[in-house]
Amino acid sequence: MHTGGCLCGAIRFEIAADPLTGVSCHCRDCQYVSGGAEANIAVFPRAAFTLRQGTERVYRSTADSGREIWRSFCPVCGTPLFSGGEAHPDLLFVRAGCLDDPSAFQRRLHIWTDSAPSWHRMDDDLPKFPKNPPER
Ligand SMILES: [Zn+2]
Repeated sequence: MHTGGCLCGAIRFEIAADPLTGVSCHCRDCQYVSGGAEANIAVFPRAAFTLRQGTERVYRSTADSGREIWRSFCPVCGTPLFSGGEAHPDLLFVRAGCLDDPSAFQRRLHIWTDSAPSWHRMDDDLPKFPKNPPER
């Protein structure tokens, strides 16, 4: 069981599963919502998620693929929380920073590395994809 919430405590949630994988996304949209660098995303099965407290705000946009993606955040303190999209309706993408134990996130790959700013460092040996990884 993993638990988490936002900086101010208005949002609380729990997830009755372990992350399926961990992704660092360097796309320009994730730079906006992370404050400059990458979004570190723990990927969970959506069915395992339960919101326990609060109501997140959802922002929808169109991804580079042309498909809709949504991102949510706490309306009080602005903490980035979750994202998802029609490409992967069974998955929930959870920002590592809103997990009570952020170490539950373990990075497995980097995506959208072509979009990373010049000062950003990716100094590990993990797989790196210039845009989205190939569909499985
Ligand atoms: Zn909050």
